[in-house]
Amino acid sequence: MSADHGKCHCGQIEWQVKLEDRAHILCHCDTCKKLGGGAYSLNQIVPKENLQITKGKLNTYTYHGDSGKPVNCYYCPNCTTHIYHHQNSGPGASWELACPFALEVGSLAPKLSRPVQKFIILIRWSKTVMGDKIVIRTILLDQGKSLKAGAEIFGKDRLSWVKEVAQTFEVLPPS
Ligand SMILES: [Zn+2]
Ligand SMILES: [Zn+2]
Repeated sequence: MSADHGKCHCGQIEWQVKLEDRAHILCHCDTCKKLGGGAYSLNQIVPKENLQITKGKLNTYTYHGDSGKPVNCYYCPNCTTHIYHHQNSGPGASWELACPFALEVGSLAPKLSRPVQKFIILIRWSKTVMGDKIVIRTILLDQGKSLKAGAEIFGKDRLSWVKEVAQTFEVLPPS
């Protein structure tokens, strides 16, 4: 699995990502329409460790998705290109957001109260079990235009004149 290179519109941010499949997942959800200004977005879900930012520093925009959990969008502070999204999947997600150092507390742990220590263990457990995945925008990659359409999600929000080009799920594939 070789890495793909990508860069934002202005070139201030560059990254490498390992794709699991040479295909785009088309997302028709209304959030993607708003954030991208198009009929749908082109993505893939990969483990967080598959992405490496090699140049520049990203800004973050946070919103609450359908599940009520916070989603962080990472974008170029100069040209605003959205590079990837990350939904915190653990039960302590909002708390973790409030305290970004929560996962770096190893050496401080004895000084923390017992409920806080338990909370940290819970977050670590959920990340291990559920894995930590991100949604990357595949069309921003150098090879993005050569990837095929692999599947479509949030078909329920598809614009009436946008044709189906791959297997479509009304919302998400059953897990
Ligand atoms: Zn940029
Ligand atoms: Zn979407």
